[in-house]
Amino acid sequence: MSIVAQALSYIRSISPYVPGKPITELAREMGLVPETIVKLASNENPLGMSPLAKQAVEAALAGVERYPDQFDLIAALAEHHAASPEQIILGNGSNDVLDLVARVFLSAGRSAVFSQYAFTVYPLATIATGATPITVPARHYGHDLDAMRAAIRPDTHVLWIANPNNPTGTFLPYADLHAFLSSVPAEVVVVLDEAYTEYLLPSERVDSVRWISEFPNLVITRTFSKVYGLAGLRVGYAVADVAVAALMNRVRQPFNVSNLGLAGAKAALADHIFIAASYELNRQGMQQLVAGLKRLGLQHIPSHGNFVTFAVANATAINIHLLKQGVIVRPLGGYDMPHHLRVTIGREDENQRFLAALEKALCA
Ligand SMILES: *Cc1c(COP(=O)(O)O)cnc(C)c1O
Repeated sequence: MSIVAQALSYIRSISPYVPGKPITELAREMGLVPETIVKLASNENPLGMSPLAKQAVEAALAGVERYPDQFDLIAALAEHHAASPEQIILGNGSNDVLDLVARVFLSAGRSAVFSQYAFTVYPLATIATGATPITVPARHYGHDLDAMRAAIRPDTHVLWIANPNNPTGTFLPYADLHAFLSSVPAEVVVVLDEAYTEYLLPSERVDSVRWISEFPNLVITRTFSKVYGLAGLRVGYAVADVAVAALMNRVRQPFNVSNLGLAGAKAALADHIFIAASYELNRQGMQQLVAGLKRLGLQHIPSHGNFVTFAVANATAINIHLLKQGVIVRPLGGYDMPHHLRVTIGREDENQRFLAALEKALCA
C-alpha cells in the first residue's frame, strides 16, 4: 500500500497554492535576462523596500546568531494601533496568523464560511484542519454579507473576510461590515484580513481595531508584504481580543519571525515617507492601467487594492503571449476565474511595458 494513502484524506484533497511565477523561473524557461522581466503577479511593492527598513535589516545582521525577541515590534504595533501588546500576534507573513486562527478554532466536524473568489488561503487553512469549507456565491465579484450570514451553521466557527479582497479588489464599506458584525453570532470568529488597507482612500478607511472591544470575536490581520515592501521577509500580524490572542500564541512557533523580519518591519512601520510614496504611486498607476485597459476595450473589476483584475477572451493564450514578452501577471484559473487576469500596479514604466505587451498579445 502506498504511503500517500496513509495521509489524512483532507490533506490529500488540498489543491496546492500556485504562486506568481518567479522572475528567475521565467528567465530559465524562456532564456530571458532577469533584469528585462517585468513581474506584476504577486502584488509586491514596485518601489522595493523602505530605505529605513533596509538600514535596519542590515544592522540586524549583526545579531543573527541569537534567537529573535519579538518585544520591540509588538510594542511598536501596539502603539501604532493604540492597542495593548497582549492583543498583537506576530506571524511569518499574515498567512501564518491565518493558519493560527484555523488551528485554534477549526477541526473535523466544524465549518468555516468564506466568499467565492475570496483569498485562496482561506479554503487552504480551513481544509488543512479537517474542517468543512462553505463557499458563498459572490455578488458582483465581492462578498455577499447577507448570504454569508445566512450560510452560518451551528458547526461554523470561523468566517473569513478580505477587505479589500484579493484577487477581485472589491471593497465592503465599513458601515456594512459593522452592521454585519452586530448580526453574526458571538461564537463565530470573524477574521477581517486588511492586507490592502493602506491603499484605501483616507475617506474609506476606518480604525477597525477599535471594534475589537465591542466584538471580541473579531480578529484583524495585517501584513508587511504589500505597502511596506517586505514580502520576502515574511512578517504579518493579527490584532485580537487579549484572550483570543493568548490562544493563538499557544500554537504559534515561538520564533516564527526572524531577527531581520522584526527589525525591518519595525523600521518600515515608521517610514511614513515611503508609505506615502507607495500609496501615491499606486493611485497614479491604477489610473494609468485602468485607462489603458479601457483603451484596449477590456472590462475590469473596480479595485481598491494595488492590483486590477480584468476580463479577456483566451486568458490562457494571452498570458503565454505576455510571458514570452517577459511580462508576468497572475492567471486566475485557480480562483475559478479562467477568463480573468490580475495585474499588480507597477511603476509607470512597468505599467507601460505591460500595456504594450498586452496590446501586442491581443493582436496576435
Ligand atoms: C497578499 C495578501 C496577504 C499577505 O500575505 P503575507 O503572508 O502577509 O505575505 C494576506 N491576505 C491577502 C488577501 C493578500 O492578498
